[in-house]
Amino acid sequence: MKSKVYIETFGCQMNVADTERAATGLRKAGYDLTTVAAGADVVLLNTCSVRERAERKVFRRIGEIRNQAKRAGQQKPLIGVMGCVAQLEGAAIFEAAPSVDLIIGTQATDRIPSMIERARGGEASVIDLDERQEDEVWDVSPAERRSPYVAFVPIIEGCNKFCSFCIVPYSRGREKSRGALEIVTEVNRLRNLGYKEVHLIGQNVNSYRPKSQEGLERFSGATPFSRLLRAVAATGMERIKFTTSFPRDFHPDIVCALEEYPNLCDWIHLPVQSGSDRILKAMRRGHTADDYLRRVDAIKQSQRRLSLTSDIIVGFPGESDADFENTLRLVRNCQYDGLFIFKYSKRAGTPAAFLDDVVPEAEKTARFLALEQLQESLQHGVYGDYVGRKISVLAEKESARSSEDMTGHSTCHKVVNFRARQTQPGEIVDVMISEAKPYSLYGALAN
Ligand code: SF4
Repeated sequence: MKSKVYIETFGCQMNVADTERAATGLRKAGYDLTTVAAGADVVLLNTCSVRERAERKVFRRIGEIRNQAKRAGQQKPLIGVMGCVAQLEGAAIFEAAPSVDLIIGTQATDRIPSMIERARGGEASVIDLDERQEDEVWDVSPAERRSPYVAFVPIIEGCNKFCSFCIVPYSRGREKSRGALEIVTEVNRLRNLGYKEVHLIGQNVNSYRPKSQEGLERFSGATPFSRLLRAVAATGMERIKFTTSFPRDFHPDIVCALEEYPNLCDWIHLPVQSGSDRILKAMRRGHTADDYLRRVDAIKQSQRRLSLTSDIIVGFPGESDADFENTLRLVRNCQYDGLFIFKYSKRAGTPAAFLDDVVPEAEKTARFLALEQLQESLQHGVYGDYVGRKISVLAEKESARSSEDMTGHSTCHKVVNFRARQTQPGEIVDVMISEAKPYSLYGALAN
């Protein structure tokens, strides 16, 4: 009987993509993948370290898995820690959690089968924090993908930006772009398999810089990323989304590419983090509020109605009332379609962890709520504008509210619920919007 591997994934889309890639390699090596931890021979936790709380959760989970096996009278499975916590903490995890057998760094995904074999052969404390090999290709089998309609396609890994609050450049290493030909080939393959939507993903997709021009030769553009967008759009894949974009590298030619190709979806996620130049400088973002607003102008001036979303951190060390006011002003100005708001929390290992002038927790909460309230009122208007409009929706599943309704995402990346009639999951349909809620739209199939 084949050995069973269970992978539990925490954190961002890059981790989801890494899990899909690890599962592909494991199945090729003769393992079975299981969706439950109980009874698995190997348990891998693909971890996130963006917040310290997420890191603590992993250690709790290791204890739960060990105790679950003990209670069931089973042998302890091999336990492996993958992802960002593995890369950052390295061998220290073996000391903190002696039941861990494998530490798998963020770039060791393809070497997991051989690491497991070493552990099963009796080697204790197997660890690999090395870089990816030059000849490794991003190979994901459709069987391991989370959805049969929407696929994540990583185009760049790592980050060179070193924002002062962020651990990612330390856990994911420097930016490394995949070759354009490999990306286009993967998108073509997904299209032939019936996928309807791809998300080109990376910490900063628009910092894309491949080593060679192979695959981009026929496509012009001001930056390698805008050329890649055109190359991917030319595959004919029905819907193409991309996230996340970094403001400093956001060239208006991206908007031009979106105008040229209707299958490039009308959604841009462009995190600003703060509306205060003083705080942006302390965050080492490399842009001012005005630089950011110039990018937003290019997006808002587009002939297409482009949906804009962002991330903001409130309560960064030293953030005064006046700084926060600037953030509120910027948010009013941008009229975001969606906003992810975070209360700053110190992350050990980042430069910001050494900053004094900490904003009291109560003040952070007050700012969070004020910003949330402002965004909700603005979003009410933004969503309301869709009423009476027809939008294209990828039907994904039955709605939680009613078995007669389906739910899916629009090209502007909004959740849309609609009366399903004969619609099947995976179909792209036009929906006439009749009602707007703060975080979703509702409508019926358009004739
Ligand atoms: S751009 Fe900044 S926030 Fe984003 S991953 Fe890189 S360091 Fe982190």
